[in-house]
Amino acid sequence: MPRIDELLAAGPTYSFEFFPPRTDAGEAKLRATLNELEPLGPSFVSVTYGAGGSTRERTHQIVVDMLEHTTMTPMAHLTAVCHTRDELADILARYRDAGVKNILALRGDAPQDVEPFWELERAIDLVELAREVGGGQFAIGVAAHPEGHPSSRVLAEDRRHLATKLTAADFGVTQFFFTVDAYLAMVDAVRSHGCDTPIVPGVMPVTNVRQIERFAQLSGAAFPTELGDRLHAVEDDAAEVARIGIEVATQLCRDLLDAGAPGLHFYTLNSSTATREIYANLGLPAATR
Ligand code: FAD
Repeated sequence: MPRIDELLAAGPTYSFEFFPPRTDAGEAKLRATLNELEPLGPSFVSVTYGAGGSTRERTHQIVVDMLEHTTMTPMAHLTAVCHTRDELADILARYRDAGVKNILALRGDAPQDVEPFWELERAIDLVELAREVGGGQFAIGVAAHPEGHPSSRVLAEDRRHLATKLTAADFGVTQFFFTVDAYLAMVDAVRSHGCDTPIVPGVMPVTNVRQIERFAQLSGAAFPTELGDRLHAVEDDAAEVARIGIEVATQLCRDLLDAGAPGLHFYTLNSSTATREIYANLGLPAATR
């Protein structure tokens, strides 16, 4: 199974992100989506890690299942929140022993239902632990927020911490955003700190206006007024919202690739339609690596 840093060194990567479902219906939908997206030959696919509770173990199961039963290269997200250092080392050791090679190391946010704690306070601490446990097996990615992490008050400091974290890691994957300038400003800032780690932009096509506005608010991504106006004007027409969302996301992907982005990471929300359409619009062949 390839490591993502090696894939990135060979050319642009095209990757898809999923979350572990909570219900049987969600499970069936994810399985159908994976069957529909596997023929596109994504460079890698990633599975998020829940803020706490039962879906955490599901991430491990889905990742190992993908490794053993599909042609896709999985990346496991892992968050430090609500875990002791020993628990995190144990989870990483299980991934290592199962043959998983790609980990996205995250701090994680405080869950709503339990009192949070962090034995590893920052994502960079988890990067270091993954290096130690992985013994060279893992390619380790980290999160990047193009418009700054929502809890950071001083953007320049956030950029400096990001550059330090990316230097310790092998690659970055960004939160979604809506303008190519947001991505390029972050990349320039990180490069000015002497960090040349590749940063893959995350793309979330709009298929539901209110949902994406809520996500954008939580993640600190600025939702362009012009796009909001366009979408609100047709918000009762789901097909038209999706059509505009896909058109806008396709253009963003083109601009990002033209600007030299090392790949595209699609937030699929466990649904294949938007990703497949953007893929087709971009003229990406199946089995692109
Ligand atoms: P960190 O890199 O630790 O940064 C957190 C904050 O600390 C930032 O404000 C940073 O500026 C600040 N900071 C860093 N170093 C220092 C320092 N030395 N001194 C002072 N301040 C510092 N969450 C999940 O729960 N599950 C997931 O699967 C998941 N997947 C994600 C995937 C992607 C691509 C992205 C972009 C985010 C994902 N998240 C996920 C969300 C993530 O957990 C949150 O954004 C979280 O708030 C921050 O995580 P981080 O890894 O960026 O943290």
